[in-house]
Amino acid sequence: MKMNKGRLIVFSAPSGCGKGTMLAEILKSGDFWLSVSATTRNPREGEVDGVNYHFITDEKFEEMIKNDQFLEHAGYCGHYYGTPLKDVEEHLEKGINVILEIEVQGAMNVMAKRPDALSIFVLPPSVNELRRRLKKRGTEADEVIEQRVAQASAEIALAEKYDYVIMNDGLEEAVQDFLDVVKVEKFRSVYQSELIGEVLKNA
Ligand code: 5GP
Repeated sequence: MKMNKGRLIVFSAPSGCGKGTMLAEILKSGDFWLSVSATTRNPREGEVDGVNYHFITDEKFEEMIKNDQFLEHAGYCGHYYGTPLKDVEEHLEKGINVILEIEVQGAMNVMAKRPDALSIFVLPPSVNELRRRLKKRGTEADEVIEQRVAQASAEIALAEKYDYVIMNDGLEEAVQDFLDVVKVEKFRSVYQSELIGEVLKNA
């Protein structure tokens, strides 16, 4: 099947949902590019500037907002996060599917701006399990963990605004669910006009 432009995919999951591991598996398929966001939070151990995020200052972030350089941006737990527009456009133009791993506020903004975006929300098996996973990760203080758990509950309440909802209670299955959704979406009639035209031409 021919499709000229890549698909813009909004992927949201509260922190601690195992989305990092899911994304690593999804990227192995080679069919996706994961957008690198800009953020004003500090890098965690092992995070690399330009790979995990573009770690920038408040001043630089605000300058980028002023210059319309973000597809979307949002505040989350006291920090700015945003999707640089140019990189996304460049990949979509090349026919590469682009995944935006963003929180719900930014996701809603993208859905409003880009109705063609495919939106997928990943659920944890339960909020308690999410708290357990965050504690196990050990990258945040207890107070921050509780802040993130509260944030996660608020995010889950918005899951129904997404096109698809997947539960991550097993990595392999959750990844397959994601790939299945993307595959089925390709067959929507709006993306098949070229194919329909070709068939008619050879009639
Ligand atoms: P973390 O600090 O755990 O890396 O990310 C915190 C939250 O910010 C996550 O829910 C993540 O999806 C979200 N996030 C990361 N990048 C962006 C972005 O560019 N825009 C928005 N709106 N959210 C983002």
